[in-house]
Amino acid sequence: MKNLIVVFASFLAAALVNARQLPIAVRGQPAKYTVVRPADASPSQLYAAEEFQRFTETLTGVKLPVVTDEGPLPANAILLGNTRHTAALLGAPADMAGLGTDGFRLVVKPPHLLIVGGPVRGTLYGVYEILERFGGCRWYASWHSVIPQLETFEVPVIDETQKPAFALREPFWFDMFNGDLAARNKANGNAMRLKEKHGGHSYRFGGGLGSCHTFNALCPPDQYFDEHPEYFSEIDGKRIKERTQLCLTNPDVLKIVTSNVLVRIRKDPGASFYGVSQNDWYNPCTCPACKALDDAEESHAGTMIAFVNKVAEAVEKEFPDVIIETLAYQYTRKPPKNLRPRHNVMPCLCTIECDFAFPIDKSAFKENRSFLDDISGWGAICERVYLWDYTTNFRDYISPFPNVLALQDNVRFFHTNRVDYLFEQGAYQGRHGDFAELKAWLLAKWLWNPDLPQEPLLEDFFNGYYGAAAPYVRTYFDALHSFYRDPAAHPLRIFDNLHRTRIPDGFYTRAALLWQQAETAVKDSPAHLYNVRMGAIPVLYTRLVRETRQEPYKVWVTANPRHYDTSSTTRSLATELLARFAEAKDIRLSESKERHDKILADWRTLADPPPLPPAAASVMIENTLLSLSNRGKWGDTVADPLASEGSAMKLYNSHYEWCTTLPFLNVAFDRGEKYRLRMRVRVEKKPGRDGEAFWAGVYDADNKRSCGGIERKTSQVGDGYEWYDVAEWIPDTAHLFWIGPGQFDKKGGAESSIKALYIDKLELSRVEQ
Ligand SMILES: [Zn+2]
Repeated sequence: MKNLIVVFASFLAAALVNARQLPIAVRGQPAKYTVVRPADASPSQLYAAEEFQRFTETLTGVKLPVVTDEGPLPANAILLGNTRHTAALLGAPADMAGLGTDGFRLVVKPPHLLIVGGPVRGTLYGVYEILERFGGCRWYASWHSVIPQLETFEVPVIDETQKPAFALREPFWFDMFNGDLAARNKANGNAMRLKEKHGGHSYRFGGGLGSCHTFNALCPPDQYFDEHPEYFSEIDGKRIKERTQLCLTNPDVLKIVTSNVLVRIRKDPGASFYGVSQNDWYNPCTCPACKALDDAEESHAGTMIAFVNKVAEAVEKEFPDVIIETLAYQYTRKPPKNLRPRHNVMPCLCTIECDFAFPIDKSAFKENRSFLDDISGWGAICERVYLWDYTTNFRDYISPFPNVLALQDNVRFFHTNRVDYLFEQGAYQGRHGDFAELKAWLLAKWLWNPDLPQEPLLEDFFNGYYGAAAPYVRTYFDALHSFYRDPAAHPLRIFDNLHRTRIPDGFYTRAALLWQQAETAVKDSPAHLYNVRMGAIPVLYTRLVRETRQEPYKVWVTANPRHYDTSSTTRSLATELLARFAEAKDIRLSESKERHDKILADWRTLADPPPLPPAAASVMIENTLLSLSNRGKWGDTVADPLASEGSAMKLYNSHYEWCTTLPFLNVAFDRGEKYRLRMRVRVEKKPGRDGEAFWAGVYDADNKRSCGGIERKTSQVGDGYEWYDVAEWIPDTAHLFWIGPGQFDKKGGAESSIKALYIDKLELSRVEQ
């Protein structure tokens, strides 16, 4: 920490030596300056005075007095907001309207410093700008600030005005929700815990609706579907209740939604935005009326905008200032051809499909190319656009996601495309995703000013956050990003699987070494050591994932179980990850809680694996070990007294292809040896019909070929359970056993001949040769 302070102090001394300086505070001397605030200061202006006083004292040991502007102008003043003395010193009234809620003007009128800003957030932001730029204060994370020790805290002669590039600035990352961290980095998003002293929230989504996916809340299928299926999506001629959207051309749906929106606004007035938007899946309505409108508009945004416009028109009569927000997301992302959103309708455009290794407009990836068309299309027909961008890997927050070098250009790109409200979604349920704190901090900086040069910000963060480890972490960071230099190559997407990125295993071995060196470099600095140990998690995790299989073996039929023993590397990586997990405060591994828990459970199993089963030449496989697609719809596990363990997997005969499988990825077997697979099944026939009873086999997914199988007609099977030979072959991990019911004769247009198919168990045996 000490070295860092010296570096900062000497840097400032060198940079400022020639300019005329106001000596705000000098270490060891009595306070010469007085902070002057308006007598009727707002909560954020009171906090601005407090923060200026607090950090000046931390910087220099000098505590400046704070007074109101009711008294005479002090000999040396720091004037906050639009004080009684401000206009006289400026020679004209301050342009408060021009500054808006968040902008500020910094002016030195020797010997005074004027931080002119409005009562909402402008004054407070002006104070932070002075402390950051001239005091060297940095707020990198809620637990990690750098406040240098200065001999003199000086401010040069200056007259500049700053206003934010985006009205709503939301780096949606967990740690940035901390109100102080957000305000100090000038972020004003909805998720931030901004109190009155931070200036509160700028724009709020009201009515308990949140910012997205509100159809189910505004017209619930549970309430309406049974009596009015026509309110919901028609798919292939049938109205659906599960994963449904609304039938947007139905006039009753419009009445219900409009009335619910109005009720919610009346209950929770005063918010800026109220959301009327599609649920988080596809299935837009394709009834004749919806289809006709969408066809004419060449997008499902046709019905959406027509509908939302009508809601917004009704809302405007009672609430003229309210904006109705809707999604331009997935199936509605393409703007309508002729329709125009009303002036009080705001589309929220989402980048979910894009490649993020490169700036959105510079990647050759097809989704990026179509996104360009969509954003310029919406920009041309809307008064305002809300942009929802994605800045982490959501499958695994702790997976390396080298998007940092594209962030600034993306923010700039959104700015030039008329985006006012920018939502940068990252790891929002916990800390320490891949470079999480760096990304959140950079985004806050660029959402305020997209033109701040990238390299000085990166250097600033690496030095301040990692201390003496910075060179090692930076080497890793640069190398990681170097794998994505070709804009025409494999894209970087937000649900990428670690096995399928273009970064080779060898890189992570070298990377682990760099992080070890980083750790050694800061072993005596606990604050930096914590950041380094958390920063290394993505590399440890990737090595573990690449080193081991993620699925446990379900079936053991091998003469050599020790071949399947967990390697010592795997055990030690898992142990190390568990140690860091225990050390971390509020770490989150994945967006999905289920996956977060699974990753953690896998680490525990891999660190301390269960004892290996004994060698076996043959094994019975209960039906519960088979995977089943669409459980409940294609089949389920049911009680069956005829089955050997009293339960069976019943296939409903509602789907003719393979419903249930046993992937050999989950089987521990002996490579190169021949095995025999048998199954015990029974067929529930339809009386008086003869046709297909079932089909089953073993499939080689790599080579797309069959390794053996069986088909039976109802006339060839009895009524009870029988054993059938399925295949005799040499298994591979890419193989899978599959079985489907007799419905498959429908392929030929015939009537199905069975009611259901029951699977009791399989038997897998090594064939001695
Ligand atoms: Zn419809």
